[in-house]
Amino acid sequence: MKKDPSSRIFDLKQFGEYGDVNPSVTDSATYTFMQAKTMTDTFHGEAEGCFLYSRHWNPSNKYLADALAAMEGTEAGWVTASGMGAITTALLQLCNSGDHIVSSMTTYGGTYAFMQNWLPRFNIEVTFVDITNLEAVKAAIRPTTKVIYTETMTNPLLQISDLPELSKISKAAGAKLVVDNTFTPMMVAPFQQGADVVVHSMTKFINGKNDCVAGAICASNAFINELIDVNNGTAMLLGPVLDPYRSSSILKNLHTLHIRMKQHSYNAMYLAKKFKEVGLKFNYPGLEEHRGYATLTKMLNQQYGYGGMISIDMETAEQANRLMEKMELADVGYLAVSLGYFKTLFSNSGKSTSSEVPAEVQKEMGLSEGLIRFSVGLDNDIEDTWQRIKTCLKEIEVI
Ligand SMILES: *Cc1c(COP(=O)(O)O)cnc(C)c1O
Repeated sequence: MKKDPSSRIFDLKQFGEYGDVNPSVTDSATYTFMQAKTMTDTFHGEAEGCFLYSRHWNPSNKYLADALAAMEGTEAGWVTASGMGAITTALLQLCNSGDHIVSSMTTYGGTYAFMQNWLPRFNIEVTFVDITNLEAVKAAIRPTTKVIYTETMTNPLLQISDLPELSKISKAAGAKLVVDNTFTPMMVAPFQQGADVVVHSMTKFINGKNDCVAGAICASNAFINELIDVNNGTAMLLGPVLDPYRSSSILKNLHTLHIRMKQHSYNAMYLAKKFKEVGLKFNYPGLEEHRGYATLTKMLNQQYGYGGMISIDMETAEQANRLMEKMELADVGYLAVSLGYFKTLFSNSGKSTSSEVPAEVQKEMGLSEGLIRFSVGLDNDIEDTWQRIKTCLKEIEVI
């Protein structure tokens, strides 16, 4: 297998019905058969190349899922209607009532809420740990632990998970390592670092256009087949399937992801160096002084850089709001949640995408109420963007 994820996607030959250079969109919920037996076989997963019903598989979804599997280096993939759809579908397939999950304390707010508030209803317990503290992860393992859950680069603190080490711990415990790779596509391939299941919010970098929500699960053939099992699969029975029109449009965007990631990383690194020069309190995993720098470097596909996510700490929510409002007016980007867009997006994590996390837990994990998370855009003139940010910082007398 080729080492570079974008080359693996590039090498796929996915044509449409008439030799179209983009695969055809299959605009159909159901599929007809010439022989009744083929339908029965398809139902039981035994008729290769046949489609049955679009909640199970749709050819357009399959093209995108295959491309994502190529990117992540897994045998298979399945696409969902949102990132949360991917996360919940994967976790509910892996855990039964009475089981236990060890999760990073810092994850996407919706993931945290699902584990903290919703899973206990079904008697699935979750222990939240500092995922960079491997001893704490080991200590949290129980005989009933089925999953270790983390994000390659955590939201919003940009901590780095040591996936090879977490994989060893999970294998020793007989558990599965599930990794959300939303912040670091192309940069890190978690499956190749020992993860068992990789989940994505395609809403972010993969699609990169902010025109839809979507998600994906990449894993072994066996696991994807379990998900779509007509009797017991969460994907089949909970039904979080992606619309084929949307799959088709995301697939085209996926083909430019490698170029976009390089530019996001270049721009974020540029800003990180400027933030350092003026003495701001900031966080970027691409600078040596970041706690996770060495860990990220060992897992990284270097050519894609250290990613487009950077945060600064303005100490108080009031100060963060003042800066964000200035930056919106100065056309630095948009005050908005989400990330991975061609424009820079910024938001105060504690009051938005992590607001599901109670204030005292935010404090415990080291999430400052003044934290502004930037998803740095594809600006062609990042020096100009920096000058705008600098003017805003001066106006509120931070520098
Ligand atoms: C946005 C996000 C999600 C949720 O994805 P949706 O597409 O909004 O459902 C999950 N994980 C991370 C890291 C995210 O940034």
